[in-house]
Amino acid sequence: MSFSDLPGRLAEVLGRIDDAVGRGGFAQQVRVVAVTKTHGPEAVRAAWEAGVRDVGENRVQEALAKMEEASVPVAWHMIGHLQRNKVQAMDRFALVESVDSARLAEALSAHGVERGRAVDVLVQVNVSGERSKGGFSPAELPAEAERFTRRPGVRVSGVMTMAPLGASEAVLRTIFGEARSARAVLAAAGHPASDLSMGMSSDYEIAVEEGATMVRLGTILFGARHA
Ligand SMILES: *Cc1c(COP(=O)(O)O)cnc(C)c1O
Repeated sequence: MSFSDLPGRLAEVLGRIDDAVGRGGFAQQVRVVAVTKTHGPEAVRAAWEAGVRDVGENRVQEALAKMEEASVPVAWHMIGHLQRNKVQAMDRFALVESVDSARLAEALSAHGVERGRAVDVLVQVNVSGERSKGGFSPAELPAEAERFTRRPGVRVSGVMTMAPLGASEAVLRTIFGEARSARAVLAAAGHPASDLSMGMSSDYEIAVEEGATMVRLGTILFGARHA
């Protein structure tokens, strides 16, 4: 597949993001994280050439191979479930968005201490309670925010969430609003927590209206994913 129409699609998306920031009233900066999973390294290069600086992948092996092949200096985001035995691979990533359990947080903390540089993370929050999705529930977040203050080697820079597919606008707003509250809980516990990663191809405009600082976009930029 050729990505020659990517600059046009990206420009359209950036315009819509600007409009959504205007409607939402949070006046935040929004970064587009281009989700290249299942696409080849040429998707990453096309994104880089179009001006995208952040790329998201949900599988470690696929991402590592693509980093070698694409060979452009984008910031890589881990956005999928991470196994604890793969935390060392996060040295190649700028941000781990999908910290979905205390055990993973402990493993990342130990790794950050060992390498002498904190791992930048987002805490994944599962607002909807869908069993298919990982993450902390809003109810367990205050205690978890406290525990994170006793974990050296990780820097909690915000929250990531995923809304259920096909949710109504009202439900999306509730979920994104709760993710915003989750960020406030982390900030109140003393974490830097300024980022709010939420919104995908089908719901990013509402997410931005609700304060998203990062949107994770795959389909709308690159077309349908390969199997
Ligand atoms: C695949 C994926 C996305 C992108 O989804 P699109 O609907 O294609 O934009 C965003 N976030 C996560 C966590 C994903 O796994």
